[in-house]
Amino acid sequence: MESTTSIVLYPSLGMGHLISMVELGKFILRHQPSFSIIILTLPPLLSTSSADDYIRHISATVPSITFHHLPAISADLDSFPSIEAFLFELLRLYNPHIHDALETISRSATIAAFVIDFFCTTALPIAIQLHIPTYYFITSGAHFSAFFVYLTEIDRTTTKSFKDMNTLLHVPGVPPIPSSDVFRPLLDRTTTDYENFMNVSINLPNSAGILINTFESLEPKPLKAMREGKCNPYGHTPPVFCVGPLLAAQSVDEVRHDCLKWLDNQPSKTVVYICFGSAGLLLAAQLKEIADGLERSGHRFLWVVRSPPEEKGELILGPSEPGLDALLPAGFVERTKDRGLMVKSWAPQVAVLNHEAVGGFVTHCGWNSTLEAVCASVPMAAWPLYAEQHFNRVLLTEELGLAVRVEMAEDGFVGAEEVEKRVRELMDGDSKKGEEIRKVVGEKSEEARAAMAEGGSSVSTLGELLNLWNSA
Ligand code: UDP
Repeated sequence: MESTTSIVLYPSLGMGHLISMVELGKFILRHQPSFSIIILTLPPLLSTSSADDYIRHISATVPSITFHHLPAISADLDSFPSIEAFLFELLRLYNPHIHDALETISRSATIAAFVIDFFCTTALPIAIQLHIPTYYFITSGAHFSAFFVYLTEIDRTTTKSFKDMNTLLHVPGVPPIPSSDVFRPLLDRTTTDYENFMNVSINLPNSAGILINTFESLEPKPLKAMREGKCNPYGHTPPVFCVGPLLAAQSVDEVRHDCLKWLDNQPSKTVVYICFGSAGLLLAAQLKEIADGLERSGHRFLWVVRSPPEEKGELILGPSEPGLDALLPAGFVERTKDRGLMVKSWAPQVAVLNHEAVGGFVTHCGWNSTLEAVCASVPMAAWPLYAEQHFNRVLLTEELGLAVRVEMAEDGFVGAEEVEKRVRELMDGDSKKGEEIRKVVGEKSEEARAAMAEGGSSVSTLGELLNLWNSA
């Protein structure tokens, strides 16, 4: 009997990472239904039951995707300096289990490819030792990927930390990036985070290829630079494959979310949607400034509000449902009730962005949110919080022309006037800037659709990968 061909996917913790990997699996299956997709899953240590629910849903609806549950390992988050340091150490501890899982799977199937998340880099040597072709899947864009391929080169040529450089970084294919806008965990080179992420940069060239959740015409320059070897001038750059945009499937909830019903009653393209990703938190004082800014702008809005963090500096993973009256300026809810809606903690973002009433998006510049806005043809205002979001703001505003830039103080604080100004820039009918961005976003949205259609660039690229994997 012929053995099945399997593609094994290894996402990191975090819903965004899991969802993108699942979407990659679904994309592969749409074009090669004979493959089996096996996803190695970590126990949901940091999240609630949402990952479990999601996995159950996918298992029930996409039978060709199976989940290989890795055992629980005890590790104490509090003893690590950062979530990233914890995550890297945890993933390192999983190596023996990854080895066992790959061996077990290969007893009954041919593993044509092992696709790992960027954070799962310590699994690369294990797979290489087992002679399994291993690919990275970057859940951010090509600019970010080019930066990471080039990181070892920057590291080689300076002894300074990014936070102390006070300069513009010149990375092939990437617009000049202020050194203070790099991926946050890299800012200080004396930290474990720096060392861990540097290891990703060192490992990338040893992979069989880099899959990126983007499409060719969105980010042509860094793709060209990587393919010409300019981002790793003294080493090798593996082939780069654009397989996106892969977006979270819109859930078909039996009960339509109330915010969508509210949007049904708003005129076309009049509502600005404000949301800071799956985990972004803002201080109570910042929430008040947003409320003031929105009120002064006079525009309609749909705002996902989360409770502020308990301690300053802790900008992700916070407490539960906010009490809006206590958090927002006195009388705000009442005064804006005819033109604004607050949603506590979570909105069905893809559906919101695709709703006819939505005309702008104030975003934290997470890559999934960015792609979702591009695909829905919604112009953005870029307000980064953490991770690679400051880097993405530079791209969105200065290189790609998809967003207006939200200016902030050094500690990230944004005043009400700035909120008002950027919302107006995005939403006012006579705003030239808004019109320019709408035009570019409209074009990119069409290109995104074309990339994922039959014969489109991302489908053709997947075809190349399938050819490679079929001959494995
Ligand atoms: N999201 C959502 N509703 C919310 C907040 C976030 O559906 O209220 C989804 C959003 O559509 C996106 C993901 O969560 O798919 C956030 O991913 P992104 O990469 O933008 O940011 P992250 O959460 O990883 O910082």
